[in-house]
Amino acid sequence: MKRQTQREARIAGLVRQLLAELGEDPAREGLLATPQRVAKSLLFLTGGYQRTVAKVLNGAVFQSQSNNMIIVRDIEVYSLCEHHMLPFYGRCHVGYVARDKVLGVSKIARIVDCFARRLQIQERLTEEVAEAVREASDAEGVGVVMECRHLCMMMRGVEKQNSVMTTSTVLGSFRKSGDTRGEFLALIRPHAGG
Ligand code: ZN
Repeated sequence: MKRQTQREARIAGLVRQLLAELGEDPAREGLLATPQRVAKSLLFLTGGYQRTVAKVLNGAVFQSQSNNMIIVRDIEVYSLCEHHMLPFYGRCHVGYVARDKVLGVSKIARIVDCFARRLQIQERLTEEVAEAVREASDAEGVGVVMECRHLCMMMRGVEKQNSVMTTSTVLGSFRKSGDTRGEFLALIRPHAGG
């Protein structure tokens, strides 16, 4: 905890410098507590660096005879792009075909967070989630689709307000079998099941 407090103080110092560099007066009333807040918020948004999948799962892997497809749809994603440190956010759909282990339902969302709370690019985030789910569950196949809006595109650069970037990773049977992949894609379509 002490280490975290020291880190927070150092980041706050850097934010104070940054404010001055941007032409602000870090001593004006509205900004007095800002460096501290930004430091706290940044540490939260990058908290994935302090986590591992094993810690996140905390043993919530269960034996199961089922080899049906398990889908968790519409997991909220909030991340920061590594090029601009600006947010990108959207939804993620994860599917896997279990061999004989299934993951606790909330754990899939926590795996997503573990990697989203870091500086990322969406393509890598998608792959890391897929690999982590496969590794944790020993699934015969995994599919991950992520749809995100990037503030670095919306607020600056090309200023495209409505573009959504879609990335996907398919592993194992999702890659080999068109039927399996097709079933996954049908199940994550917005109108399937509301
Ligand atoms: Zn960016």
